[in-house]
Amino acid sequence: MVNSMPELLEKQFDPRMHSTEHLVNQTMIRMFRSGRCFSAHIERKKSKLDYHFDRSLAQEEVDEMVKRVNDIIEADLPVTEEFVTRDEAERNYNLERLPGEAGDRIRIVRIGDYDVCPCIGPHVKSTGEIGAFRVVSTSFEKGVLRIRYKLAKNGG
Ligand SMILES: [Zn+2]
Repeated sequence: MVNSMPELLEKQFDPRMHSTEHLVNQTMIRMFRSGRCFSAHIERKKSKLDYHFDRSLAQEEVDEMVKRVNDIIEADLPVTEEFVTRDEAERNYNLERLPGEAGDRIRIVRIGDYDVCPCIGPHVKSTGEIGAFRVVSTSFEKGVLRIRYKLAKNGG
């Protein structure tokens, strides 16, 4: 059953868009200690990520974030997976966003030495497949920072 989940999600999530979610999350953590997004709407043409935050981002901060994400895409880092027990995963990661059906073997997804997190979604094999990343807009309201983004290879 564990193996059927990624196939199921493959139809719902675009691998490039979803892999970019990992990169934006890790970049937000490194720049702002924001933690990973608590909500994500991943669609092929345009996606949005929501973070618990305390203010809006300045344009220079958005530009820096976009530059860092594109640097990782251009570095063409490998995306790899390994499986650990749920106990082991709970000791090392936040499993809040994993569905209960993820089972006892938890898949850990690594993007080079840049990001690592438990995930059941579909990913690219290396970041070079993602193509140019750009932020369409950001907004801040009631403690939530929303980032909307597109990818050149997905028509953005
Ligand atoms: Zn993922």
